[in-house]
Amino acid sequence: MNRFEDLKIKKPLKNAIADLGFENPTPIQQESYSTILGGFDYVGIAQTGTGKTIAYLLPILQDLKFSDQLNPRVLILAPTRELVIQIVKEIEKLTPYINVRALGVYGGSNNINPQKRAIAEGQDIIVGTPRRLYDLVLSNVLRLRSVKKLVIDEVDIMLDFGYKTQLKNIFENLPTKRQNILFSATMTTYVDELIDDFLVNPVKKTISISGTPLETITQESYAVPNFYTKTNLLNHLLEDKEEFSKVLIFVATKVNADRLFEILNFQSELSVIHSRKEQNYRTKSIEKFEDGTSRILIATDVISRGIDLDKVSTVISFDTPFYPENYIHRIGRTGRAEQQGKAILFYSEKEIALKDSIESLMNYTIPLNEFPEGVVVSSQLTPEEKNKPVDPDELYYEQSASEVKVGVSFQEKSAKNSKEKVEKKSYNKTVKERYKKPVRRGDKIQNMKKKRKKK
Ligand code: AMP
Repeated sequence: MNRFEDLKIKKPLKNAIADLGFENPTPIQQESYSTILGGFDYVGIAQTGTGKTIAYLLPILQDLKFSDQLNPRVLILAPTRELVIQIVKEIEKLTPYINVRALGVYGGSNNINPQKRAIAEGQDIIVGTPRRLYDLVLSNVLRLRSVKKLVIDEVDIMLDFGYKTQLKNIFENLPTKRQNILFSATMTTYVDELIDDFLVNPVKKTISISGTPLETITQESYAVPNFYTKTNLLNHLLEDKEEFSKVLIFVATKVNADRLFEILNFQSELSVIHSRKEQNYRTKSIEKFEDGTSRILIATDVISRGIDLDKVSTVISFDTPFYPENYIHRIGRTGRAEQQGKAILFYSEKEIALKDSIESLMNYTIPLNEFPEGVVVSSQLTPEEKNKPVDPDELYYEQSASEVKVGVSFQEKSAKNSKEKVEKKSYNKTVKERYKKPVRRGDKIQNMKKKRKKK
């Protein structure tokens, strides 16, 4: 089934789609339609450009009956005002032939009073940024108790921007019996926690993997014991300015991004972005990378994904990503438009399990390069390496604890590992077995819930 015609869609919606000139649903639209329509909790891992907005709007609109009730039945949360506006526009495009009231609410310079008046008139769908939305709830204008479907779009960005508290506050005002639909471009531990805490056996679909042009990307890896040795290796590789002409370096945490930015050679050719940098700083970093002033851009997963970078020669995963999907997103930044690109993965002994998961996901063993002679192997460890880091998002807040020694024979060991095919286990199982489950904020909430129940 790969035509809109074949999906069970009501006539007025079908006509709107035909007016837009869309013939075939995109993969995420095909994957999600019947699940969302069936009322199941749903997690879609898909980037902007995959048609994700219509993927959730279509089944929601299909299911939405005419009503003149005042309180909204659908709530859509998005991290930015731009996205709110975009989503409202998509709703308008799909509803010229049906009677649906939709309103976008967001903060900034936008006065809250006209939004209050529009809500009081009655709406079917409210699309909003979390902070403004919660303000409207607090002011008693917006009542959420009739919400049957909650969508959180770009949930990774939302959590990376620190909207977790607002989300929790909003959740508390929603009826517990509702359908939850989450869309995220990347997986992060926070997204995982949110899914664990608030969704009921969600159907999870990852799009993007099939669309990744793996054939045009040469992949390589290096076994490197720690952060400072990785930095030495990076300095060595980056000396070849012809081959490494436009390099995107991914690191797992904001701390590592800042640290690498400070100590890497080639200071005049370096830029960095992550979500703790001001918007202006981020824009400048990207501009410098795009106009060639900076040959090298250091970035974290979440923040890098909203930007469309042109002709990246090499993607270096300085840290092995915690979620294998993110590796696919990372390497997809090179090898675009039929051009050959290169992706290089650095992995430490602690990251072997993560690398194995990536290889299982791709069904491909990344070739291992020999560690170059002359690159100094450092024994210095970062505070997080002295600890036992598991949760990359948490690293920003962690203090150092007991020391962990890196094995001497590590490089030999990992060379052997890369040749042997490891037993295929589920990703979560592998990580849990290897690292044990860390105590996370999500767990605390679960524990609190359990305590409350016992009382
Ligand atoms: P999104 O990923 O939701 O940001 O959508 C990216 C763009 O693709 C938007 O401009 C949509 O209008 C467009 N689009 C969505 N679904 C389809 C489709 N089935 N066929 C063609 N274009 C689409």
